[in-house]
Amino acid sequence: MKKIIPTLILGTMATLNSQAVVDKNFNYHVDRFADIEVLRYEVPEYDRLSLNQKKMLYFLSQAAQMGRDILWDQNGKYNLQIRQLLEKIYTDYNGDRNSADFKAFEKYLKQVWFGNGIHHHYSTDKFTPEFSQDFFAAEVGKISDADLPLAPGQTREEMMQVLVPVIFDPSVMAKRVNQDGTQDVVATSASNLYGDGVTQAEVEDFYAKMKTPGDETPVSYGLNAKVVKDASGNLVEEKYHLTGLYGPAIAEIIYWLDMAKNVAENDAQKAYITKLIDYYITGDLRLFDEYSILWAEDTKSDIDFVNGFIESYGDPLGMTGSWESYVNFKNTESSSRTETISSNAQWFEDHSPVDPRFRKDKVKGVSAKVITAAMLAGDAFPSTAIGINLPNSNWIRAQHGSKSVTLENITEAYEMASHGNGFNEEFVIDEPTRKILDDYLYITDMLHTDLHECLGHASGRLLPGVDQDALKENGSALEEARADLFALYYVADPKLLELGILDNPNAYQAEYYKYMLNGLMTQLNRIEPGNDIEEAHMRNRQLVAKWVLENGRKKGKGGKDVVELVKKNGKTFVKINDYPKMRELFGNLLAEIQRIKSEGDYKGGNDLIQKYAVKVDPKLHKEVLDRFSKLDIPPYRGFINPVYTPVMDGNGEITDITISYPENYSEQMLRLSRDYSPLTK
Ligand code: ZN
Repeated sequence: MKKIIPTLILGTMATLNSQAVVDKNFNYHVDRFADIEVLRYEVPEYDRLSLNQKKMLYFLSQAAQMGRDILWDQNGKYNLQIRQLLEKIYTDYNGDRNSADFKAFEKYLKQVWFGNGIHHHYSTDKFTPEFSQDFFAAEVGKISDADLPLAPGQTREEMMQVLVPVIFDPSVMAKRVNQDGTQDVVATSASNLYGDGVTQAEVEDFYAKMKTPGDETPVSYGLNAKVVKDASGNLVEEKYHLTGLYGPAIAEIIYWLDMAKNVAENDAQKAYITKLIDYYITGDLRLFDEYSILWAEDTKSDIDFVNGFIESYGDPLGMTGSWESYVNFKNTESSSRTETISSNAQWFEDHSPVDPRFRKDKVKGVSAKVITAAMLAGDAFPSTAIGINLPNSNWIRAQHGSKSVTLENITEAYEMASHGNGFNEEFVIDEPTRKILDDYLYITDMLHTDLHECLGHASGRLLPGVDQDALKENGSALEEARADLFALYYVADPKLLELGILDNPNAYQAEYYKYMLNGLMTQLNRIEPGNDIEEAHMRNRQLVAKWVLENGRKKGKGGKDVVELVKKNGKTFVKINDYPKMRELFGNLLAEIQRIKSEGDYKGGNDLIQKYAVKVDPKLHKEVLDRFSKLDIPPYRGFINPVYTPVMDGNGEITDITISYPENYSEQMLRLSRDYSPLTK
């Protein structure tokens, strides 16, 4: 719930003064297929790290990559077997690599790599292969039994009986995460977080019994477990830990965490790595909470990481964490920006446009920093967030605070790769607006992420006795809207000029224009024709943009609409007539959504969602898709990682660790499968 995923970032210049110098010749583009573009990101300032820090970063990167198979298996129970089979066909193939079937096969494999399984990483719909079943059967036929990834005791024929429909039949395992509340979301989701025959009602009952009413420090139930039926039909947890499910991968992770612990920067860091290892050994969620507290409270270390079962978007019930890892180090220069913001957190809280009853008297330790990502893995790879705010546990956030990070080199890579892609010329209304986007979108977009993460999510409070889950299935979208609105309201505040973060009182207009354009139009590029909007962040953005569009009618200066959709040469454009009034409207909606959250007003929240966030105008949707198709801008992007190579002396001691960017997409994926697959060996 606490992460920002990138919107489509426009092709603007990076003009932020405090930027680390970027290499203008760095090649960001790696691969392009289906609806995906793969990029690489640069790791600026890697060379300033000490040898000890490089070692730590390397060991943590090893721990990160060792978890890859876990996520693949969580995403679907045949994913690892399918990956092995597809890669075997791909590498052994000796026919015409330009034939239609092989090209289609290659595209499918690249999609599967990107989705960490047979479903799309974002829509969670199953991929549709465009090669024939005959091609597939013929290629499998060329592989000897010994080289087939057969399950224990499985014959070649049995394997094909299982996998052919899983790959080719659209009705089998159709969606990884089904959130249609009119169905049993556990039984109808294809992910592998629940065993065969387990129903939603059974799982809800199982965990309801486990919880203690009135427990003020509850563990995150179900976070690290698969729920299955035992021989007598009772539900039991199969925990993810050293001697449990995914043990062989967890053993490797523990090994490399232990190596990292030995070169930790300080005792506080050593202490939380030890705690994390203990948690991986036992699977005890109390230890995970203890680790999370120690981690959140460490704001001194330069090198930092996330490694574990963290975000629960992959579970239709929002409980089980998908395995992920980020390894990073602090971007000292840019961090001064977020440190300024977070050290003024109480000022922002006290001046927010919400009812004072819903404000926090004391904002609890929000630490914020800007980081340079050095390794992305698991659920953060290849598609990644650009901001993270953890831990997720509500009571830990309330009592101990949270840590918020902005991944600046990732944002920068998106930005640089977008430069000159024609987006602004196609979708931005006029030259003066394009100019302000060119000059200020990069910095205000970063600021939006900072404000959303460090202040937005941490702001406000519930009235006594209000259930934190009262907004139910709309909770995520409304929470994202609340954080976005907090950021939108403050990105236009003169306080940012006073703090020396912005140098132009109109800079915020860049962010406002982009936000409205995205929420009203361009994010529709991610939706298939005829579909509603489902994903929480997209619902949030459309809710905010449409609400402002409707509630700003005739409210702008001179009785004009605050914002309108106008036609130019038959094309639709967003036109903003009154920016200051728009800020006021963002403030009004923030006050209303904060009220809904603080009072636990389910109906109020649901009315907003249903009225503004879900439905799509089919005509405008079609226009957006048509205009995008001419630009060939992919709706989704992700990254491959750099390669870290230890340099040894004659005694086997590491004397340096070099960084390089030598691989293309397929090479990296095949190397990961070869060197980092403890669950398929
Ligand atoms: Zn958020």
